Amino acid sequence: MPTVTGVPPTIRTRTDACPGVVSPHAAADGALARIRLPGGTIGAPALRAVAALAREAGDGTVHLTSRGNLQLRGLDPADPRPVEHLTAAGLLPSRTHERVRNVLASPLSGLDGGLADVRGLAAALDRGLCARPALSALPGRFLFALDDGRGDVAAERPDLCWRAEGPDRGELLVADTPTGVSCSPAEAPGLLLDAATAFLDVRAAHAADPAARAWRAAELPGAATAVASRLGDHTPSPSRHDDRSARLRPPEGGDVLVGASDGGALGVAPVLGALSAGQLERLAAEGAPELLVTPWRTLVLPVPAPGAADRLAAGLVVDPGHPALRVSACAGSPGCARSLADVRAHALALVARGGPRADAGPEAVHVVGCGRRCGAPHTPHRDAVATGPDTYVIDGHTITTEELR
Ligand code: SF4
Repeated sequence: MPTVTGVPPTIRTRTDACPGVVSPHAAADGALARIRLPGGTIGAPALRAVAALAREAGDGTVHLTSRGNLQLRGLDPADPRPVEHLTAAGLLPSRTHERVRNVLASPLSGLDGGLADVRGLAAALDRGLCARPALSALPGRFLFALDDGRGDVAAERPDLCWRAEGPDRGELLVADTPTGVSCSPAEAPGLLLDAATAFLDVRAAHAADPAARAWRAAELPGAATAVASRLGDHTPSPSRHDDRSARLRPPEGGDVLVGASDGGALGVAPVLGALSAGQLERLAAEGAPELLVTPWRTLVLPVPAPGAADRLAAGLVVDPGHPALRVSACAGSPGCARSLADVRAHALALVARGGPRADAGPEAVHVVGCGRRCGAPHTPHRDAVATGPDTYVIDGHTITTEELR
């Protein structure tokens, strides 16, 4: 096999158990269901359906995830309504592929900036993914991205990324590594799907035991070369080798819109990424016909109703300087049995104190209940890790909850 570098691949000792709707996760506060939104796109009627489900069958809240998905908590694992209602809302088009429908797309593409317009490509990729039975074997953590050239979703560590280099062309990256294989935006979904098939072949060649196979492309030595070598129908682009080293690291990034954009879109952020069912219904009304959930736990309303920002400011963050934008938290107690502290209450108190201290730099603080550090943002941040109900370690120092800054 042309890809083996002598470095052993990661050996897994447990199976990938990313939750979905059909297979929710058993959390301390009930079943947790993750609703995949390829490209983060959700129509207003579907958003209302999620809100109703949260109110009727869950704990009344909906959480945004770091992959631009939605999550419900406090469900009864025997309750058939989540599968029934989400299928009826069009949010569960495939039961076999639901956990592998992990697709990011630059949320502001076609609205503000970017080199190409990737709108619609995530939906095309999703349709193609669900139509290929073999791709249901992808790990639940495997991530696709369609980056419009600004580098925002390319920075979210996707396994496979098509990144625009201009309006008519973009390159395939495998685990952040350019491959030299390029195609037009319209061809990008097909290229990514072929690359996903190649990934499955490469990891099977590394480990015969399915239980020991890699979850992420970065876990396979030489993955970019190995995947590219199997893409026979896609022509490598020879001009790309000169500046390869300069493009290995995606641009830092953000492009996280909070407030109004020059193009008229509106970005809003729920505090700690959690929305009440009522807030979700208001967003559906203000953002119809379609909204976008971003991997930075915000939402974009491409065409907000006139005056929406003022109305949504009652309860949601629309001010880009708001301290809540620099504080995040995992589920913590009581939702997670591993947690040593009620981290969300402590994170809210930190927001009320004005957020992380300015002399610590621009970094955000991610408050977590144990060393697994779930949900950590990929942007610069400091972790505050609970060591007891009222103590944390941050920057190597043990502090009390009140000292958390
Ligand atoms: S970081 Fe620890 S406490 Fe927080 S959700 Fe993950 S496992 Fe639970």
